[in-house]
Amino acid sequence: MGMTEIAFQKCINLDCGAEFDCGQAMFKCPQCGELLDIRYNWDKIKVPGKLSEFAKRWAGRDNRLDLSGVWRFRELISFCEDKYKVSIGEGQTILQQNDAVAEYVDMQPGSLHLQYEGLNPSGSFKDNGMTAAFSHAKMVGATSSACASTGNTSASVALYAHSCGVKCTVFIGSGRIAFGKLSQAMDYGAQTIQILGDFDDCMRQVQDVCTKLGLYLLNSLNPFRLEGQKTIMYRIIEGLGWDVPDWIIVPGGNLGNSSAFGKAFSELKQLGLIKRIPRMAIINATGADTLTDLVNNKKLLWNDGKIDQKIIDDYYADLTARNFSPHTCASAIEISRPVNLKKCLRAIDICNGIVRAVPDEEIVDAKAIIGKHGLGCEPASAATIAGLKQLRAENIIGADERVACVLTGHPLKDPNVTVNYHKEKQGRFSNMPIEAPNDLDAIIKLIKS
Ligand SMILES: *Cc1c(COP(=O)(O)O)cnc(C)c1O
Ligand SMILES: [Zn+2]
Repeated sequence: MGMTEIAFQKCINLDCGAEFDCGQAMFKCPQCGELLDIRYNWDKIKVPGKLSEFAKRWAGRDNRLDLSGVWRFRELISFCEDKYKVSIGEGQTILQQNDAVAEYVDMQPGSLHLQYEGLNPSGSFKDNGMTAAFSHAKMVGATSSACASTGNTSASVALYAHSCGVKCTVFIGSGRIAFGKLSQAMDYGAQTIQILGDFDDCMRQVQDVCTKLGLYLLNSLNPFRLEGQKTIMYRIIEGLGWDVPDWIIVPGGNLGNSSAFGKAFSELKQLGLIKRIPRMAIINATGADTLTDLVNNKKLLWNDGKIDQKIIDDYYADLTARNFSPHTCASAIEISRPVNLKKCLRAIDICNGIVRAVPDEEIVDAKAIIGKHGLGCEPASAATIAGLKQLRAENIIGADERVACVLTGHPLKDPNVTVNYHKEKQGRFSNMPIEAPNDLDAIIKLIKS
């Protein structure tokens, strides 16, 4: 098998460790059922000696792979030939230093940076993963694909599937999806199936459907997707002049991003491209806080890969017994059985990570602040700022440490939460529209100038 190749798949279960070449689409180890990783034989890849060498690609905007903020870093995600690579200009995102939001979380000017992944083609970070996963789908000759989604995965899958001629079916929990996202899935022409259930139900169904019908699965179980998502970290480093921050803060849903980020840093360190690994804070919503509960209260650890499975089994058995369904306005992270849990535990180990949960009221307040002083984001993304505020109050993060928050999705994804906050609910930072008679003098009196 593939040890002679550049890249191969490997089971994360250390007792199994089975390896497979990249020409297969499996998404779980066929021997033990655990998650798979993409591994590289780095000595067979010409990786630049310094990260800053990737900056040369900025000059090559007529080359579609240089234009992509994912494939610009192709040596670090080298699992397929260029001819299979699918790109629609993803990853053209920015890292913004934001002192007004810094003040809100009690940080010093210059310390807080926001990574706007909402600037991707479908409006969320998911495009970083889909460009990689669809490239693999083309490589293995897939013609039909599927995903379960809280919304953004379906929007991204629908967009990428049709840009490379693959069919797609998306499964969403009924009544749980934000309108911006549902509108995208329909507009991009995905076959959309609304299941009477929540995301976790969809996730279980889609895996069986993919196995039975041989569809290509695009959830973050798909290890190729996570390879693309590593580049969000490369771009943060790039935005900091090729330096690493002290902290990365990311919302935690299915835990694909946090898993990918940990892998990215571990590889960069191994390759000698960075000297230190930043710490990571993963933020749940309190209504969907499985990771927080397992790590902080049940003391679940990576433990060199010897994870205490009984803690997880008991926890999930209890969720089932209570008929628990997660609830948060941050629908993108409304997940109680995160599929990448074990990889995330590894990332926490790699990054000396911590986990927190924040209530919806703090999420929507933080979202209003990011909207007013930045480019805005959807609720799940704002969990990062609410989490950072909490970590500053606990003094776990210092006021002058360099922090990068990953704002995962665009503000237009979920207009209902935004309008509700500003217009109906009168939140702390609400910006109510003012009703005026159709009369010039009356209107002029209302204008604060
Ligand atoms: C998917 C998604 C998340 C959750 O990311 P995971 O990798 O599943 O933890 C967070 N925010 C937004 C906007 C998303 O679309
Ligand atoms: Zn295995």
